[in-house]
Amino acid sequence: MATLIDGRMVANEILDQVGAEVKQTGVRPRLAIVMVGDDPGSQIYVRLKEKACARVGIESKNYFLPANTSQEELLMLIKKLNEGPDNGILVQIPLPDHIDPGVILEAVDPEKDVDGLTEQNLGRLFFGTNPYPPCTPGGVLKLLERYGIPIEGKNVVMVGRSKIVGKPIAMMMTNKNATVTLCHSKTRNLAEHTRRADILIVAVGSPKMFKKDMVGKGAVVIDVGINRIDGKLFGDVDFEDVKEKASFITPVPGGVGPMTIAMLMKNTLRACKRQAKKG
Ligand code: NDP
Repeated sequence: MATLIDGRMVANEILDQVGAEVKQTGVRPRLAIVMVGDDPGSQIYVRLKEKACARVGIESKNYFLPANTSQEELLMLIKKLNEGPDNGILVQIPLPDHIDPGVILEAVDPEKDVDGLTEQNLGRLFFGTNPYPPCTPGGVLKLLERYGIPIEGKNVVMVGRSKIVGKPIAMMMTNKNATVTLCHSKTRNLAEHTRRADILIVAVGSPKMFKKDMVGKGAVVIDVGINRIDGKLFGDVDFEDVKEKASFITPVPGGVGPMTIAMLMKNTLRACKRQAKKG
């Protein structure tokens, strides 16, 4: 039976550390949260982010814009926020179809890009110098570190190559000296790759897709997937099927999800400290 990787516990530890540092140093970090439209999933995430901010002493300000906001109007808001007093800017994805998320994310000042998703900050990942590791990938690495799971020399198989999850994780794992295989929808014989993984990380968005026949005995299994079915959350991994075979496994909910928010708080505090130094 696998050891459960408790993302809520680790996220709480990080939030406590951030909260203690905010209190000790007397800084007052500020985060602007921008949401366009009323996507129900986004509303939940924004509420959780606000709650985390309140808990650690980060001042959050919400900008809720109607679904018919134009790309130009949104760009103008981002420009205003870039020049304003907030230390971090978070644009909640997904955006309505008429807005190009690439254009909007790129408009955020890289110094305030606490999601770590601008081209400049993603490029810095290449060199291991991104001041703001993207939150979900950063959260995955933290979980492994907290549970004492070594990365160096391991076969890491990452399924999913999105800009926000799969590609950054593959790069960060490479920087940690893992041997990385990056799989996607065009990968042939996916199970042959996944079965060879010492650490299998999946971010596909397909509920319970990964069964025990796709996982090697004793593998560490990290499930980034969040799939909502009839109001209930499921990961990409068939947890009940895989838990007997893995050595460590993350649940959904309660695995990677809470870490994403904790890492956002950590990045916002870092942004505040960096900007204070620069004056
Ligand atoms: P995307 O839809 O951007 O990417 C999905 C990836 O999965 C793509 O690279 C795609 O390949 C690949 N894929 C799709 N089908 C298959 C298949 N049959 N076999 C192998 N690969 C496949 O998703 P995201 O990365 O944004 O999100 C993935 C999941 O993670 C979602 O469930 C999302 O909700 C969740 N998520 C969770 C977060 C958290 O905080 N825990 C944060 C962000 C996302 P291709 O590139 O070829 O199309």
